[in-house]
Amino acid sequence: MPNTPPHIAIVGCGIIGALTAYELSQDSRFKITVLDRQQPGQGSTGAALGVLMGVISHKKKGRRWHRCWAGLERYETLVPELEAITGQSIPFNQNGLLRLCFEGDDMVGWERLAEVRAKQELPLEVLSPAELVERYPQVQHPGVIGAVYSARDRQLHPQTLTQALVQAAQIHGVQFHFDADINHFTSSPTTNAKHHCQTLHWAKQSLKADQIILTAGLGSTQLVQKLQSVVEPAQILEAEHSRSLDIRPVLGQALHVRLPQPLSSTPQPVINGQDLHIAPVSPDHPNEYWIGATVELPDNAGNPPELKQARLDELWQTALSFCPALADATILHSWSGLRPRPEGRPAPILEPLENYDNVLLATGHYRNGVLLAPASAQWVQTELAARLSQPS
Ligand SMILES: Cc1cc2nc3c(=O)[nH]c(=O)nc-3n(C[C@H](O)[C@H](O)[C@H](O)COP(=O)(O)OP(=O)(O)OC[C@H]3O[C@@H](n4cnc5c(N)ncnc54)[C@H](O)[C@@H]3O)c2cc1C
Repeated sequence: MPNTPPHIAIVGCGIIGALTAYELSQDSRFKITVLDRQQPGQGSTGAALGVLMGVISHKKKGRRWHRCWAGLERYETLVPELEAITGQSIPFNQNGLLRLCFEGDDMVGWERLAEVRAKQELPLEVLSPAELVERYPQVQHPGVIGAVYSARDRQLHPQTLTQALVQAAQIHGVQFHFDADINHFTSSPTTNAKHHCQTLHWAKQSLKADQIILTAGLGSTQLVQKLQSVVEPAQILEAEHSRSLDIRPVLGQALHVRLPQPLSSTPQPVINGQDLHIAPVSPDHPNEYWIGATVELPDNAGNPPELKQARLDELWQTALSFCPALADATILHSWSGLRPRPEGRPAPILEPLENYDNVLLATGHYRNGVLLAPASAQWVQTELAARLSQPS
């Protein structure tokens, strides 16, 4: 370990960069700077609904399941921890998640998942249509063949969370620059046939760093291109298969609506079905809901589709078909965002950057970045600890 604290530069301050910075800030061995070209949580994170679907996902074991569970487990302590540090409250819905099932849904598969979860000591209930109507009268859809209730899944407000993470990390000494559109790197070859990135540049400013973490979501593709463009041509050829990073935008549109009164007077879970969520906004606004989001794929060249009102209308009609009482709602506003989806490979991308000895990628979280952020931050911590314990 060097005597001066290693300087860690994190590029991108969405949920992944902010949560990583906060977790690292608890280790006094590091000096940390976070760089973004805009205010925190304005990218994909700013559009997210913050639904944390872990227990109800079909991931049962292995790395993917552990990442989901790490998220659910960490948020349970992280939210009160951040509220205590910052004094601001973070809307965190702990009423679980209700998934509606329709024709074609494999109810036997859900029963089997419930058995697996029971062995993991996690509650998952499969409900008949009669049980659904009795417990959740706000749901009235003639096509529902049953439902699954997961008490341990959650939903939180991603932007408020990101802001709280930034504030708490600042209190722990992390530096932030929100005018830093990183457009250039200075790198040099090392004796181990890799490159070492020394400096990040933006506008007329620069920052020297020992380790660089790219958490730039959709911006990561371009940043990796810039880093790889300085690698020797021979190495480029050798590593052709792996040197590019292709993350593409998947559009999501959503609505914020207000009813004269809440859909239910009992604790309200997030309602999910046919890829749509109806999420109560916060305990302070029990009659307001987020409804979303569409999943609209890019074209073959990777360009996101145009915003179409028709997709929002479809979304709204589906929500109305689940909970007819929504017909009394006023639509307050709609929004959209782009999910960072790795092309041709599973999300997320957690790996060292090929050809470099000091760049880590924690990006491409597609539809579950809020859920997976704690596991990704943990991966960065473990990688850094391993790198910094090696003799230089
Ligand atoms: C409509 C919608 C609904 C969603 N709902 C959910 C949900 O319910 N649950 C869930 O878990 N996930 C959800 N997601 C997915 C989730 O939002 C993403 O997976 C997550 O936000 C990705 O976080 P990120 O920090 O990697 O990216 P971002 O939030 O996009 O952050 C990346 C940051 O990098 C910065 N950046 C990029 N390039 C540069 C550069 N060159 N220099 C400086 N800064 C740069 C950007 O300005 C940005 O702030 C949803 C997404 C959308 C769009």
